[in-house]
Parts: sequence; structure tokens; C-alpha cells
Amino acid sequence: LQSEIISVGTELLLGDILDTNSNYLAKELARLGIDVFYLSSVGDNLTRIQDAIRIAASRSDLIILTGGLGPTDDDLTKQALSNVLGLPLYEEAKEVARLNNFFKKRGVKMSLNNLRQALIPQGAIILENAIGTASGIIVNKDEKYFILLPGPPSEMKHVFEKQVKPWLKANISTSRDYLHSHTLKFIGISESRLNFEIEDILNNNANPTVALLAKNGEIHCRLTAKVKSQWEFEMLIDPVKKEILERVGQYYYGDDDISLEQIIGKMLTEKNLTLVTAESCTGGMIAQRITSIPGSSEYFLGSIVAYANSVKENILNVPREILSNYGAVSKETALAMAEEVKKVLKSDLGLAITGIAGPGGGTEEKPVGLIYIALVGYNINVCKKYIFTGTRNDIRWRSSTWALNLLRRSIEEL
Ligand code: ATP
Ligand code: MG
Repeated sequence: LQSEIISVGTELLLGDILDTNSNYLAKELARLGIDVFYLSSVGDNLTRIQDAIRIAASRSDLIILTGGLGPTDDDLTKQALSNVLGLPLYEEAKEVARLNNFFKKRGVKMSLNNLRQALIPQGAIILENAIGTASGIIVNKDEKYFILLPGPPSEMKHVFEKQVKPWLKANISTSRDYLHSHTLKFIGISESRLNFEIEDILNNNANPTVALLAKNGEIHCRLTAKVKSQWEFEMLIDPVKKEILERVGQYYYGDDDISLEQIIGKMLTEKNLTLVTAESCTGGMIAQRITSIPGSSEYFLGSIVAYANSVKENILNVPREILSNYGAVSKETALAMAEEVKKVLKSDLGLAITGIAGPGGGTEEKPVGLIYIALVGYNINVCKKYIFTGTRNDIRWRSSTWALNLLRRSIEEL
């Protein structure tokens, strides 16, 4: 069985919103062992939606559409499907009652427009949407299945999870092989270096397949296998994971949904250590990332954004001689910032960062992208120098990632 997904909405074509619905559906279908061969998007235009449906029906057995089920004139998906399949729309009494009820419960008068949402193609199965006004719909015609889902992502997920998934499991025969993935996350190693270290594994295109993805200054290594069970998945994945970690384990920090910020939180909690930061070029980004984790108040005390030299000197107490002798972007300043912020904010660990995020302000000696990251306290006293490339934001984000990683590795070694 071949499937494809069509997202409907002019906003998608204008680049106003990202097509997260297709992304979600593609992932879910893969998990169910259903092959997705095409993703496409089309605007709110009757002729073009009809064309998209016709093309999809010429090559796929299962076609899922999202969006355009609302009450307004630009919501055309049902009309288009009805036209293509020659199945007239009728006003379904149960849907009218449901809509009346929906608005009554909320104490709002239903507008006449909403009655459009009670129109159903003849012979369709109606999929209940408990959180919105647009029901989903399944239509079966000439051995092809068409599934229509609402556009708002929360409603789309709700209808898919509650209605479509069980229906697919019961009605669609798949190869019974499920696609499972497991992601290993690395920091501090470049994509090309990681590629080099595990090239033979990457090229061995068997079950599992292994692929690298660069993501926000991290490198993710995704292992994907076609399997019949979680147990079989682990049997296939474990030896490959072990082999990869034997080679590049020092750069690995965690799996799947776990983030660097979470790992750090866990480590600081376990060691019962507190952390503060002094940030120049990142302007609080490290503190922001650390405090994005619920419960971070257990180990994170605060931060000083010491952007100007006057703040470095007057609030952080970085000695004026260090600033004038070595400059604000220097190993000496970074170490002094870390040491002083630790003292001023009374913490176990002080993490500091200073650098040139650009695009201006670079010199021959101190180019844009030059960053010093220092960590002081609890027998740790390190400063690392990096030169990052990219836009101002790339450099700032990457600096904060490398700072978090320096923290992670230093605590690990304690
Ligand atoms: P409504 O009843 O709200 O009109 P609808 O089924 O007609 O629902 P659309 O009007 O197409 O859906 O989309 C409603 C909103 O849902 C959009 O403004 C957009 O924010 C979001 N949305 C629609 N399609 C997608 C998509 N493919 N990916 C992510 N978000 C989407
Ligand atoms: Mg709409």
C-alpha cells in the first residue's frame, strides 16, 4: 500500500506557517508501517485542490488531506473531493445536531456558515472531533481511501490519534514491519569528523540504516530499523550503538528526546552543585537555556549579563588591569568573570563566556567568532578558546552549546 499526504492552505504556500501536520502524519504513518511516497501542499483554490487529489489518486492508495474543513468560503477540501469522486455532499443531520450542541455548550450562537461543516460526501465515515467544529472524514472509492483531517494541529492530532490510527490498524494491511528510530546525540565533534570515524557503519546500508544530521551545533546520529517488535529493534540496534560509542563515545551526551540542558540539570542535582553564569556575547542565552528546564531552581542561582566592560569591572569585579592588558575577549577575562561571578553570586560553579559574535568588531588578531568559555569552582579551572563561523545568531547559539558541553564534560570528570 502506498500513501501520500496533502496539506491544504494558502498560508503554507506563502511561507507563513510550517507544515507541521505533514511532518507529524509522516512520522505516525512510518511507525504504523505505512509507506509515504509523496508530500504535497496546495493553496485554498478549488481547481488546484481537485488537481492535487486527482494526481494523488492516480498513484497512491491512501491519501490523507489536512486543512480546509472550516466554515469559511476558503475551506474547500470537502467540495473538491466531492467533485473529483462524483460523490455529492449532503447535510448530515447528526452533524447539524453536534454543531448546535457544540455552540450551545459554549454559550455562543452558531453562525449559518457553520452548517457547511455538516456537509458530508455520500458514503463517508465521520470521525469525531471532540475538541473542535470540523469532524474528520474517511471516504472509500474505487479501492482508494481518502482521509480528511482538520487543519489546526491540535485537532488534527486528536482526530488522528483517537479515530484514524485505530481505523488504519483495523483496515489497512501493512507489511507489519514498523519503522523505528533511535537517535544518539553528539556535541564537540564536527559532522565530517564523525562521518570519518564511523564511515563503514554509515555505508553499510543494512538494517539498521545509520544517518547523520547536523542540528543546532549538535550532530545527531539516527539509527533506523524495520522491525516487527520493540524487542527485535533493540536486538538490531544495540550492537551498532555499542560500536559507535566505542569509537566516539566521548562526544555523546544522550538519546532521543533528552536535551543537553536536561542532562546538565540531572548531573548538577546528582552532585548537589549550584551554578551561576556570567555572559557577555551570549547576553543571557546560557541562563535562558538552563532555566528552560522545570526544577532548575534547585541548581541554578542566577546570571550576570556583563556586556559592557563597565559591568564586567563594576558588578563582576573583573580587575581593570586584566581588561586593559588582555582585552575583554581573552582567556584572562573569561577566567576572571567565572571566578568573580561564582564569588558575587555565591555558587559552587561559575561559568563565563566572552567573545565576538559579529558581524562587526573583529580584528586580525581577534576575529569574529572568537569565543572564550571558562568554568571555575569545585576543583575545576578551565578556559577553552573556540573560533566559530556563521551568522551572529549561529555564533551565539553555538557558543552557548559549547559552554553547556564544557560544563557537562567537566562535571562528568569530577
Ligand atoms: P478551521 O476550522 O480552523 O478553519 P480548517 O480545517 O479549515 O480549520 P485551516 O483553515 O486550513 O483548517 O487551518 C486552520 C489553522 O490550522 C491554520 O491557520 C494554521 O494555523 C493551522 N494549520 C493548517 N494546516 C496546517 C499544517 N499543514 N501544518 C501546521 N499548521 C496548520
Ligand atoms: Mg479554515
